[in-house]
Amino acid sequence: MSALLELKNVKKHFPLKSEKILSRDKPMLKAVDGISLSVKSGETLGLVGESGCGKSTAGRVALKLLEPTEGEIWFKGEDITNYKGEQLRKLRKEMQIIFQDPYASLNPRKTIEQTLAEPMKIFGMPKVERIKRIDYLLDVVGLSSYHKRRYPHEFSGGQRQRIGIARALSLEPELVICDEPVSALDVSIQAQVINLMEELQDEFNLTYIFIAHDLSVVHHISDRVAVMYLGKIVEVGESNELYTNPQHPYTQALLSAIPETNIHKEKERVILKGDLPSPANPPAGCKFHTRCPFAEEICRLQEPGLKTVSEGGQMAACHFAKEVMMEKVLT
Ligand code: SF4
Repeated sequence: MSALLELKNVKKHFPLKSEKILSRDKPMLKAVDGISLSVKSGETLGLVGESGCGKSTAGRVALKLLEPTEGEIWFKGEDITNYKGEQLRKLRKEMQIIFQDPYASLNPRKTIEQTLAEPMKIFGMPKVERIKRIDYLLDVVGLSSYHKRRYPHEFSGGQRQRIGIARALSLEPELVICDEPVSALDVSIQAQVINLMEELQDEFNLTYIFIAHDLSVVHHISDRVAVMYLGKIVEVGESNELYTNPQHPYTQALLSAIPETNIHKEKERVILKGDLPSPANPPAGCKFHTRCPFAEEICRLQEPGLKTVSEGGQMAACHFAKEVMMEKVLT
């Protein structure tokens, strides 16, 4: 599989309001602080972390809905970092997003037909084709053409997310960023929507970046998983390997919080100290050191880079990853 999307040392900093307007060092909120990622064609990359870790911002920067502060974005072998105007408009056809809250993302005053037709109209699709495609899209997401004259409030949460998915697929994109697509849905509906997304991925050869804080859902759908903490990727690897052998203490803590379904197995919970520090004033050295149960002096002084920790290509940003970490856990 070749890389469809690549982020190279991407940063997204937002200026904060400050009384020291004349100061050269204006305070910045470092939502994304230098991430590099490669997403292969046809795969699902899960992006996980606590609320406020920068995962949604990273997704929006990848789609060019937000301009990066620094770094490069490559799509299908082309540097799209500085795409604007017509170039960007054409790119929109190939990259789409599914939002967390399907109700808020649908215009309440437009019928489903009008909502689905909108992107096709913008790209000049003739009316006859639009009508056919809307019927087709409603069918593939498990609704029917009978629904197209209705308004968003007439649907359940699960149905509204199916409409959101149909809209994302309307222009036959290659990459879809799924930003917490099931977290607003009842648990019973989540599985249906996830199964639908998997079926559509096979049918249309879609590439997903699946952003979520629910690690069980991410494990189910992802080929690879990247874990974010305070705007950085702290661990990335093949999904099963990362879930069975997490190397970064933050990943270990997140995984230990997943409820154990096997009643005969006991699970040791890793409790993190304190709250997530502010991305406007992140700790020096390893950003995780204020909460890490294994932190040592070097962690406060030196930021660890991502390094390969397994033959399968798993990478972790911790001074004590791999064997040393295992020793620490055992002692
Ligand atoms: Fe913890 Fe140190 Fe590893 Fe950071 S570098 S995760 S503080 S042990």
